[in-house]
Amino acid sequence: MRTLLRFSTHVVDNQPPPLAAHDAFATDTALREALAREGGAWGEPEVAAYGKLAGGELRECARLANAHRPQLRTHDRYGQRIDEVEFHPAYHRLMACAIEHGVTGFAWRHAERPGAHVVRAALMYLHYQADQGSACPLTMTYACVPALRHAPELAQSWLPRIVAPHYDGRHVPAWDKPGNTIGMGMTEKQGGSDVRANTTRATPIGDGLYELVGHKWFFSAPMSDAFLVTAQTEAGTTCFLLPRYAPDGSRNALRLQRLKDKLGDWSNASSEVEFAGALAWRVGAEGRGIATILEMVGLTRQDCLLGSAALMRQALVLALHHVRHRRAFGALLLDQPLMRAVLADLAMESEAATALAFRVASAVDAGARDPREAAFARVATAIGKYWVCKRAPGFVNEAQECLGGTGYIEESELPRLYRQAPVNSIWEGSGNIQCLDVLRALQRESECVQALTEELAMARGEHSALDAAAAEIGMALTVPTDFAPERARWLVERLALCLQAGLLFRGGHAEIAAAFCASRLQGAGGLTYGVLPAGAPIDALLARAWPETAAG
Ligand SMILES: Cc1cc2nc3c(=O)[nH]c(=O)nc-3n(C[C@H](O)[C@H](O)[C@H](O)COP(=O)(O)OP(=O)(O)OC[C@H]3O[C@@H](n4cnc5c(N)ncnc54)[C@H](O)[C@@H]3O)c2cc1C
Repeated sequence: MRTLLRFSTHVVDNQPPPLAAHDAFATDTALREALAREGGAWGEPEVAAYGKLAGGELRECARLANAHRPQLRTHDRYGQRIDEVEFHPAYHRLMACAIEHGVTGFAWRHAERPGAHVVRAALMYLHYQADQGSACPLTMTYACVPALRHAPELAQSWLPRIVAPHYDGRHVPAWDKPGNTIGMGMTEKQGGSDVRANTTRATPIGDGLYELVGHKWFFSAPMSDAFLVTAQTEAGTTCFLLPRYAPDGSRNALRLQRLKDKLGDWSNASSEVEFAGALAWRVGAEGRGIATILEMVGLTRQDCLLGSAALMRQALVLALHHVRHRRAFGALLLDQPLMRAVLADLAMESEAATALAFRVASAVDAGARDPREAAFARVATAIGKYWVCKRAPGFVNEAQECLGGTGYIEESELPRLYRQAPVNSIWEGSGNIQCLDVLRALQRESECVQALTEELAMARGEHSALDAAAAEIGMALTVPTDFAPERARWLVERLALCLQAGLLFRGGHAEIAAAFCASRLQGAGGLTYGVLPAGAPIDALLARAWPETAAG
């Protein structure tokens, strides 16, 4: 006893407890409100069940799946090509849990019920908070459905497995599994944004099959059961469904060259691949491949937006948990006025991101029945993807700083979020591509202008700064053909802020919405987080962000 005391160096004090398992749905006021506001209240039991998993078991699975990164095994011990990627069991658990709870298939299985995509969005939002990498194959599996419908016979046989609540990670043909996952391959070495630059050749060999020769420079989730890919036929860029196993059950000629050594996104494998005569079925008409695959990309872009909003939420939760337990200069960090301003600003940004993401999800949902909503989804997905994904890296860094040095250390979880943050603005069409896409939609599709104008008008009269910003944008919308591409980022940023402000008002929290307008549209904010106008509703924002009764 005496020896122990002699060598005991210090008492560990003033360190927050680890963030305990918590209900990520029940503790997220903005999410609960968005789910109800956008028509997904009926799915609350499913979402609530997943909230407990996302705030609990799945966080540990994510830690393991990111610490034990996927390994490529190109050959077996006898020199035969196998082209397999090995994952830690925790990755398979993440995939199974997500698919069984509807992250991929819920919206399609309940397609007849308005709000099904909103419910699915909430499931994805929760999953993304726990693990980001596995969200990539999950989102591609969800998103492939509209594109695959361009090949009715394929859709008939494949869709039941794609939307099924079953995950099967075995290396066997898709048709021998109860559930399938789907990947996507467009980007080649010579061009990613410009898919027309694809050089992979597709040659018809009969029975609706084509033989593909070429490569893909980025090919994520290569253990998916099949991939929607683009390749050139005589008629131009065409979309194909390329199964991992050929129709005769042998391994398809899909050679994994190496795995990308990525900044983040570690639980997910992204590969480089060559197609050495790989067999694939055509999806949609020859020469219409870009239009066909864009139906998938519209939904993966929606999930980039949802994912970045979720990333903000998770970073905010980690920051709030820390400051609630850590003291400096004689007081809890949570009680230090300047820290409160930073946290409240982050909470406001997170609420605005979540509101926009769920508004887009509801437009995607209603778009199947209502052309106005379809037009809104078309343009607002690109607006939201651009803005929210761009805001995420700075946001996560600020949240990291709330933890001081600990936020820079791997165990705090924030480095993983920080590494992940930039990717959503790069893949599925980088920032400039989103802005140019918005411009193109406004210039060519009058229904998009109409939908945006109506949406902005719903918030008219709520705040003078919002009215002024909307009027300024209105001038650009009146003659979009005159709008210069070098001003596209300005336009899209302003559109995003106006949409977010309008949604915050619609959410019924006028004080918060007014502070958003003052700081984001009127110049009372700053270029970093933590600059709020005098009298901003800091207490209200913090109370909403992480209830007193939340874990830890
Ligand atoms: C981790 C990861 C995984 C990925 N997984 C996949 C996958 O599974 N399948 C897949 O197909 N792809 C995948 N990608 C590729 C991704 O979609 C592309 O990297 C992205 O679309 C950009 O293409 P690029 O890299 O060829 O860049 P480029 O097309 O060369 O673009 C470079 C930059 O130029 C900008 N730019 C391009 N054209 C214009 C213009 N006209 N005006 C102004 N600016 C312009 C772009 O916005 C971008 O900022 C993945 C990427 C990453 C990072």
